[in-house]
Amino acid sequence: MRKIVIAGNWKMYKTQEESAEFLNGFLPTLEDTPSDRDVVLCVPYTDLTVLSQNLHGSRVMVGAQNVHWASEGAFTGEISAKMLTEIGVRYVTVGHSERRQYFGETDDTVNQRLRAAQEAGLTPILCVGESKQERDDGDTENVIFEQLKIGLEEVDQNNLVIAYEPIWAIGTGDTCASEEANRVIGLIRSKLTNQDVPIQYGGSVKPENVDEIMAQPEIDGALVGGASLKPESFARIVNFN
Ligand code: PEP
Repeated sequence: MRKIVIAGNWKMYKTQEESAEFLNGFLPTLEDTPSDRDVVLCVPYTDLTVLSQNLHGSRVMVGAQNVHWASEGAFTGEISAKMLTEIGVRYVTVGHSERRQYFGETDDTVNQRLRAAQEAGLTPILCVGESKQERDDGDTENVIFEQLKIGLEEVDQNNLVIAYEPIWAIGTGDTCASEEANRVIGLIRSKLTNQDVPIQYGGSVKPENVDEIMAQPEIDGALVGGASLKPESFARIVNFN
């Protein structure tokens, strides 16, 4: 039975004060949220403790946006899985396209981060997806299969979420057609050994398109950037029909 996971990715937005304000608006909207879905907020490091403290006893789980593969060491600017679990973090995004594009993340480092996250008991959300150029060149499937082949080496598929995020749809307002997202996600699933891994779609998910996306049979959730920053819009997404 596949789980539904709706996760917000705040990227580098919100101070601690702003994140507390968000929770004041957002938490009351969860009263009638169906119990069939996990709700996660992946937030900047400085906001993690604010969320952890304020979400205690709520159904929202705290997520980070990256994790290093070593348990500790001379890795300035990085954070370990143990540092995250100590403050109640449960999920972590790994291999987001912004990390791959701007910070030199490779499939090998993604793989190391995934394994370290799992060893510490975190659930990683592995992000995969093709660029516009790769899609136009007919390379979508090859690119994603390669990301999965290297990224998932020795990764436990019993504690994993995958997000299909076509890069050209992230932060552009240009959503991938839901049937096409469904098709690619079906192909991703065909490469997995565990058919129950939840696979999300990410890329300009909004209140206006979430119902259509979530109606697709292969799509098990959403990874939401911009529309997770406002309590009303993220609430509408979490409470999709
Ligand atoms: C993301 O940050 O993973 C994302 C999908 O962003 P947006 O929803 O803004 O396209």
